[in-house]
Amino acid sequence: AKVGGRNQARFYDCSMSRDLVRRREIEAELRAAIQRDELSIFFQPIVDLETGRIRTFEALVRWFHPEKGELRPDEFIPVAEETGVIVTLGNWITKQAARAAATWPEDVTLAVNLSPLQIRAPGAAIGILAAIREAGLAPERLELEVTESLFLDDSESTGAFIEELSAVGVRFALDDFGTGYSSLGYINKFPFSKIKVDRSFVSGPKVGRKSDAIIRAVAEMGARLDMAIVAEGLETIEQVRAVSAAGCTLGQGYYFSRAVPDYLAALLLAQERNP
Ligand code: C2E
Ligand code: CA
Ligand code: CA
Ligand code: CA
Repeated sequence: AKVGGRNQARFYDCSMSRDLVRRREIEAELRAAIQRDELSIFFQPIVDLETGRIRTFEALVRWFHPEKGELRPDEFIPVAEETGVIVTLGNWITKQAARAAATWPEDVTLAVNLSPLQIRAPGAAIGILAAIREAGLAPERLELEVTESLFLDDSESTGAFIEELSAVGVRFALDDFGTGYSSLGYINKFPFSKIKVDRSFVSGPKVGRKSDAIIRAVAEMGARLDMAIVAEGLETIEQVRAVSAAGCTLGQGYYFSRAVPDYLAALLLAQERNP
């Protein structure tokens, strides 16, 4: 059948407005979802590639919607960012995650993802510290994952935020490394303790000699600058072996575990410590 320009335009209009309607719905419901207890925090382990032990759990938010089913963060975090709901949501996530983390052995740390908007909200640093204090988690056990998009505008307030929290022991990880721009400048400027190499360097069509050389170079830089290098998205033993050989010290991915609810995270830690 012939596809007319008109039909095509109508098709796009229709799907665009459907998308908009869905976004509006998500926005309205997101505010209520916290109260209704539809959101929960899952935890994915980040393991020491040499010993296999869990060093950190990354908090990843999940939304179990009564009608729509499980919504992925990629669907609602961007809406939360556009509408500013992320500030309330982010504080809630940090507090919930810190409560779980406070029950873990002290050498296990908590990683929380931060959106740029959360950092720019007034009193952002104080809010995060209040949340973890209330939960009973020491600042040294908190690690904030940020992406390069954080630095695109207003790097001054971002700098102040990072300095303020670093001063009390909170650590920072540069997330999705290799997918943005001029990352080396940020690494030079801000005190990151960890770099997370994006999973596109580990699996997928672009993986090969080049990506392997890039991981090696990043690992070498990490060793020299005293930063841990995490390989993200490890799904197979071959990938684990390859990134270990390339010099990454930490790994995360389905090969080890998906993100799990808090009681399973606690169980994983208990099994590891009392085999
Ligand atoms: P991210 O921070 O890069 O988180 C890693 C994502 O990769 C998670 O998806 C995780 O489930 C997935 N993943 C982990 N291992 C593997 C693997 O081996 N293979 C594959 N294919 N995927 C793997 P998730 O939970 O859907 O989160 C997606 C993104 O949503 C996150 O990317 C993060 O940017 C954002 N996000 C999640 N939770 C939060 C949150 O609490 N706050 C904020 N601001 N953003 C969040
Ligand atoms: Ca992350
Ligand atoms: Ca990532
Ligand atoms: Ca990501």
